[in-house]
Amino acid sequence: MKKVRIELQGISKSYYSETAVTQALRKVSLSFAMGEFVAITGESGSGKSTLLNIIGGMDSFDEGEMIVDGEPTFQYDDEDWETYRRTKIGYVFQDYSLIGHYTALDNVVSALLIMGQDPEEARKTAADYLKQVGLEEYGTHRASELSSGQKQRLSIARALAKNTGIIVADEPTGNLDSETGQQIIRLLQELSKDRLVIMVTHNYDQAEAYVTRKIRLHDGQIISDVTAETEDAMPDPVPDPAAPAEDIGTEKKPGRKSLTSNQTASIFARWNQRTQRGRAILFTSFLLVIAAASFLFIGELFVYRDDTTTKNYTQAGFYHEDDKRIVVKRQDGKDITDEDVKKLSSVRYVETVDSCDIANDINFYIEEGKDYEYAFGNEAKRSRYGKGAGEGEIKRVSFLNEKRFMMSTDAISEADLAYGRLPQARNEIVLYAADDSLLEKTMPCYFVFHNVWAENHYYQTNVTVTGILKNPTGQVYFSRELCRMLSMSLTDNSVFRIIYGDRIRHEITPVMSDSLTGNEVRLSSTMAEEYLLAGEFPCTIEEYDPAGKPTGKVVTDTVYIKDPHSADGLHSSTPNLLEVSGEFYNQHFRLTSSQASVYISSYAKTDQVLKKLDRLGYEGMSSYRISTIDYNEERTTQRLTIIGISALGLVILLLAEVLILRSLMKIRIKDYFVLKFIGMKMQVIRRISYFEMLTYTAISAAITIALMWVLRLCGIPAIQEVMWYYEISSYALFLLYNFLLTLLTVLFFNRLLKGRLNA
Ligand code: ADP
Ligand code: MG
Repeated sequence: MKKVRIELQGISKSYYSETAVTQALRKVSLSFAMGEFVAITGESGSGKSTLLNIIGGMDSFDEGEMIVDGEPTFQYDDEDWETYRRTKIGYVFQDYSLIGHYTALDNVVSALLIMGQDPEEARKTAADYLKQVGLEEYGTHRASELSSGQKQRLSIARALAKNTGIIVADEPTGNLDSETGQQIIRLLQELSKDRLVIMVTHNYDQAEAYVTRKIRLHDGQIISDVTAETEDAMPDPVPDPAAPAEDIGTEKKPGRKSLTSNQTASIFARWNQRTQRGRAILFTSFLLVIAAASFLFIGELFVYRDDTTTKNYTQAGFYHEDDKRIVVKRQDGKDITDEDVKKLSSVRYVETVDSCDIANDINFYIEEGKDYEYAFGNEAKRSRYGKGAGEGEIKRVSFLNEKRFMMSTDAISEADLAYGRLPQARNEIVLYAADDSLLEKTMPCYFVFHNVWAENHYYQTNVTVTGILKNPTGQVYFSRELCRMLSMSLTDNSVFRIIYGDRIRHEITPVMSDSLTGNEVRLSSTMAEEYLLAGEFPCTIEEYDPAGKPTGKVVTDTVYIKDPHSADGLHSSTPNLLEVSGEFYNQHFRLTSSQASVYISSYAKTDQVLKKLDRLGYEGMSSYRISTIDYNEERTTQRLTIIGISALGLVILLLAEVLILRSLMKIRIKDYFVLKFIGMKMQVIRRISYFEMLTYTAISAAITIALMWVLRLCGIPAIQEVMWYYEISSYALFLLYNFLLTLLTVLFFNRLLKGRLNA
């Protein structure tokens, strides 16, 4: 008596659907022993496949018991069935159930890997099995390219490779012509000598000569079970299998160098990537679109996070609205030195430094017709300013462009010049021009200090171009001396008063004039009538420290007021300024600055720069930030809209990704069925998708970041703005979002897969 391997005791199985119950098997009792080659026949729907699937551990049963090698299975859990499928059963299917995009060899190798064999060893073993079924020359062909007979032989080789004692075959010849079918049956017969082979067929005639037993099913019941006495009359068997005899049917434990689930999953993930390039590219491209879109959306969220963008800017403090400007003072209150300028220039994200911050709020007008224009009219009667000019016609200047602000030459160096030199004297400037024709030219320049000088008043002086800049810019750079001189009224390093008997003229800003000497001063003719006197008057100069406190030092001197009505009297229209000689100026006033400005690459970096400045011993403040006060309704709405759109965009992307990827991945569910039937653990099946999709995500995220950097360096403004807001936290959010999306997608896919595979 041969060893009984499988025993079925009163097995019943029903399928339930909404409308009907189908009883596929009714109290089937059978036992199968080693060496048997069993044919199960019966008409379609009689329960043959159900029976075979139960034996193969692919389907459950409602009633009865199945005993495997003397061991009952009633307490088997999912994992026990996985082990059963993996170690006891080799499957051959009517539709071959191969993985079409794998090579013939890899189809066999995959079974061996699932058994836990080392990949290199598996390739050698797989080649032996291919030889055994006569496919040694087709190892490198894709399974989908083989003929039907070759496919079925390959599926037998794969079943053999599992080295199990039991092979189940469901209509293995159903799709083959009779000649090829015959060959397959002969092959199975040969294998059954030291195994148990159970085959479902409805073409019994074809198998009759080879099988040892025939079971006939009808309506879920066994109607005949006969042992055929063919063994002796059998034709010559096919040539001996190439595999070593002791390997057959021994059900050895998996190879010693057993792979972990992760290793196996990552091998299969790599195969998927390699054997389905088009799919890999499709997935990566799709993920790339998501990654790029989410990169921009996340960037927008960060751009609009800062609420200064929603507030109105007020020019009361800083007339020049520039969000990249940071005003800097020394924490010790001392004046800004050249050393400070150097130190500030080396701070990360600082692009330019101007040691004279205050001048950066003074408008200048240098191009007649573009910045300013003259108008003539008889306004002498209306305006008392006209007294200095001739009778009737007076020349008035009106300003056109309020966008240009003074900067000192601190911000540039010799290297920025195409022609000429940097300014040395007070009235020298550099600017940009296409050629050197402006070099050495002298021209009038007007200055207006809004918020400080009386409204609609200006200071005018002639300036000479000493250098031409290389790079086009509308910026004109003025000597540090001029910048500081015009800033004096705000720095208050001294308070200058002229005493006219019982009247005191307060807080006049002195400006140097080369046409004056000694104690000569010239008043603006716009001053009130009572001050427009000529002659000698006492004055006091009260010194203030850089922090704006009086030092207690008060100097008394006299000034000689030149006739304000003289023809050369009107260089300044503002009553705040008073022209003095260079001598007088240098004796009583100092040209210093206690406040510098740094200009950073982007407003996004404001906080970072402020922190760094604090560490370096400076007090910094964003002129833009402190000048934004009340919320602008329109901008607030706009901001909320953009944040809303971005957030919505991210959600839509999330849904799109999960849905689209999941349906794309469905295309492969068939392959997972195959892997399951040849014994892959569900745990490994799940991980394959994780490994594969996470690789695509990593690639697409890396490409996106690289792409954004390239676009940024190419100078695409929209990308640049977003990129300035990208810091570790935003990159982390970007990666988190993308990887989370993928994990979520795979999770959903795996749930779907599990449902399908267990159905
Ligand atoms: P055979 O392989 O002999 O053609 P099957 O074992 O596939 O027969 O099917 C036996 C009976 O069970 C048939 O009536 C079939 O319709 C039914 N059946 C098989 N599988 C299912 C299923 N998954 N759900 C519902 N009914 C099924
Ligand atoms: Mg069937």
